[in-house]
Amino acid sequence: MTSWFAPGRINLIGEHTDYNDGFVLPFALGVGCAATVADADSEWTVRSAQEPEPVVVRRSGLSDAEDVPEWTRYVLGALWLLTDRGVDVPPLEITVDSDVPTGAGLSSSAALVCSVVRAVDDHLGLGLDDDEVFALTRDVENDAVGAPTGGMDQLISLRGEAGHVLLCDMRSHDTRAVPLDLAGHGLSVLVADTKAPHRHSDGEYGARRRGCEEAARVLGVPALRDVGGPDLSSALGRLDSEELRRYVRHVVTEDERVLAVTRLLDEGRLPDIGQALTASHASMRDDFRITVPEVDTAVDALLSAGALGARMTGGGFGGCVIGLLPEDDVDAGGDAVRRAFADAGFGEPSLFTATAEAGARSLAG
Ligand code: ADP
Ligand code: MG
Repeated sequence: MTSWFAPGRINLIGEHTDYNDGFVLPFALGVGCAATVADADSEWTVRSAQEPEPVVVRRSGLSDAEDVPEWTRYVLGALWLLTDRGVDVPPLEITVDSDVPTGAGLSSSAALVCSVVRAVDDHLGLGLDDDEVFALTRDVENDAVGAPTGGMDQLISLRGEAGHVLLCDMRSHDTRAVPLDLAGHGLSVLVADTKAPHRHSDGEYGARRRGCEEAARVLGVPALRDVGGPDLSSALGRLDSEELRRYVRHVVTEDERVLAVTRLLDEGRLPDIGQALTASHASMRDDFRITVPEVDTAVDALLSAGALGARMTGGGFGGCVIGLLPEDDVDAGGDAVRRAFADAGFGEPSLFTATAEAGARSLAG
């Protein structure tokens, strides 16, 4: 029997930059998924503590992805892809148990996939290296589930370090841990899960992604990452569509903000990153247009309660907001968000503080 844990995550800054080959700066959370893999006699059984029924598949189910409940694709997908790659996967019983809320933008899916892949690799002694593990976890979400994610969630869930954010270059997939010394500065990251329903998020995500690709084509660059900050105004001048101009402005300035925040953190200047966080939110709201009234309200409430900076985190159209606050102002920040939501007639948000914790790890012994 082999058990691994992999965490959910919060992205400190860098939204919709991943599929533009740019930069992101996430950190791993304390909440996550534990996956346990054990030998079985003749079938493959998948169980989740969060699902009422286990799912059993026979050998044919490993080669031709039979019709199984959506959630099991995150688990069986790893076995399907390993089988495609020539691994003879023996009968297994896989059990998962997660405390990451699903669909809140905290990446319960990567926690699930990364814990399963690590546990299966370990249990079967496959000896996959870090790059192969990353590629497999990303392919499970992209190919077995069909979720067009860029790979950030898997990188941070696998490689997160306690007390650090992870600068991820989404072109090379190189990563570097950068200190996030919250306690040393008396600061907290307060997370407000707005619980706003994700309205049209799939279609809107696809439209942004296609728009960015079209802009890169018009500008003659492989990806918007290649439009450097100094080239931004000339690039904007070459685009006829106001919509594409707004997309390009968001992506190029967001990459710059990620790198600026990284520099500040490297210099030990955590309190100075607030402005970039808030500017990132304004760019998502006004240029990329992926916010909704609930997240804008939460950001405004956090700023009025003394946050040094606040922004939506995640793909948008709902989800979570983060605020960087002096520890002493966390309660006031939470109260401000709750009050603003009540006044606006929104549902009750959920509030918690987040610290940067370690990435995937074995639960052996
Ligand atoms: P997010 O990753 O932001 O939480 P996603 O839509 O990417 O949202 O992934 C959520 C999906 O992942 C769930 O709908 C479910 O299919 C699957 N999932 C995550 N955790 C579990 C779990 N513990 N048990 C079963 N399925 C899970
Ligand atoms: Mg996900």
